[in-house]
Amino acid sequence: MWTVRAAFLLILASLVQGCALHGAGARSGAVTEPAVRAHLEFLASDAMNGRGSMTRDEQLAAEYVAAQFRALGLESVDGAGHYVQTIAISNRAVSGKPTLTVHQNGAPDLKWTAGSEFVVTLLGGTAISGPLQRVMTSDTRIQRGAIVYLPEQNFGRAFDVLLQGPAAVLMRGNLTPERWEAAAARPMKLQPELVDLPGTGDHRSVLTLNAAAATQLESIADGTRIEIAAQAESPRISHTYNAVGVIRGSDPSRRDQGVIVSAHLDHLGRVESAQGPDKIFNGADDDASGVVAVIELAAALAKRHPKRTIVFACFGSEESGGFGSTYFREKSPVPLDKTIADVNFEMIGRPDAAVPPHTLWLTGFNRSDLGSALASHGARIVADPHPDQHFFERSDNYTLALRGIVAHTVSSYGLHKEYHTPADETRLVDYAHMREAIASFVEPLAWLANSDFRPQWRPGGNPAGK
Ligand SMILES: [Zn+2]
Repeated sequence: MWTVRAAFLLILASLVQGCALHGAGARSGAVTEPAVRAHLEFLASDAMNGRGSMTRDEQLAAEYVAAQFRALGLESVDGAGHYVQTIAISNRAVSGKPTLTVHQNGAPDLKWTAGSEFVVTLLGGTAISGPLQRVMTSDTRIQRGAIVYLPEQNFGRAFDVLLQGPAAVLMRGNLTPERWEAAAARPMKLQPELVDLPGTGDHRSVLTLNAAAATQLESIADGTRIEIAAQAESPRISHTYNAVGVIRGSDPSRRDQGVIVSAHLDHLGRVESAQGPDKIFNGADDDASGVVAVIELAAALAKRHPKRTIVFACFGSEESGGFGSTYFREKSPVPLDKTIADVNFEMIGRPDAAVPPHTLWLTGFNRSDLGSALASHGARIVADPHPDQHFFERSDNYTLALRGIVAHTVSSYGLHKEYHTPADETRLVDYAHMREAIASFVEPLAWLANSDFRPQWRPGGNPAGK
């Protein structure tokens, strides 16, 4: 699961340091443990080098999945035999030190410099400005476009605030001198952007203030204009990759109604500064496990000749901001206005003790009627037991949900300590759990793809606000 989204947790970490899922049905026995294990051990092997977003390793993962789709007889996304979408992304390094200026009424401006009064956690642009809004209590409503100040270093809260559309978030930091030095020395870059879709990128910014600057800011009136300025080098183009395969619906009157089954290909790659037995973030659970679910569900559902079309999509660059799914959404190979649902898989490699045995959970369960419908057709899913983690907003389902598509993520992530570390390795995967988690979705998805049921958002559940 993901970055500003996952970047937070990664940065936070660097700063502070006989299972049988029931209801699977006889035919889903087609999902076997050796097949699950084979795909997972390849995708999460050291040979794949952690499948870093926008790397050749991610490309290899995409080609692997594409090969499976071709072997299964799925149609290609373009009808011309291409199962991989190649997507150009612009990356810009920040040169020099960004500055922050507080334009005080009737007093001299305060001018702060990166590395001295603040460190950059995320930077979404070269010229960011807005009125100061100090958020001293948790129930304060965030003004869109404000420069929000939080009086504590709390990345979960910053994430909450970012979902409400501020221009930037400033946090009072509590870094040790060593952590501060490390953060100040980190190379800075702007949030990447899709070359073909300028303006759709992630423009969120988070700066962490030192105690003196934070104290100063707390005495400055709300509404005071703040400007953040940076210089960026010219763009360098890299690529991310989606693997997409299609089972075309067998019923001509329902063929244009798509069901998306998705996961993300990429993880955090190889990080030289990582603490651990090695430097490779294998991402066995996150999210090689979900990719295996997509492959195995494609294999199982291809034999079922569903009436509706099923699109199997493994997205690139989820961890760095959902770029693969955003491109898929904006340049979709299938008519998204007729797409009825996305069922996304994230981190199903181990059971979660927070829910009953043999059970998975669905993010945003009560936002729509999809979860209860799938459950009534055999899916062993319950509501997400970790709502404070905002998992609904932290995976590729959210990219599609922002377009109004009923889109949720299936998971059994039990907040294990290996999350986003080099220790998320295959040796910790519970293959019996994983096999049955996948098998348990064959019948519910076959039902969905053969039915006339159209899932609906419940009042207030649609993040697109419709
Ligand atoms: Zn993930």
